[in-house]
Amino acid sequence: MPGYMGDKSCMIVHHLAVMKQECKIYYVKKKDQSYFVPDTLDQAEKDGFVSCSHCIDNIAVMTDRNF
Ligand SMILES: [Zn+2]
Repeated sequence: MPGYMGDKSCMIVHHLAVMKQECKIYYVKKKDQSYFVPDTLDQAEKDGFVSCSHCIDNIAVMTDRNF
């Protein structure tokens, strides 16, 4: 299962494991869903996505992004 899912309609990336109701992931259309290879926040940002303030900002402090 992928960790990150990008919404191309608003260019926001969510973390599926910690998503909140506010993320409205279930409303993201299939054609707007984007996954990343490798499945990292760094890759999502390289692809032009901004991290979601509802889910990813909450885990940023706990995640070592420099692995
Ligand atoms: Zn989110």
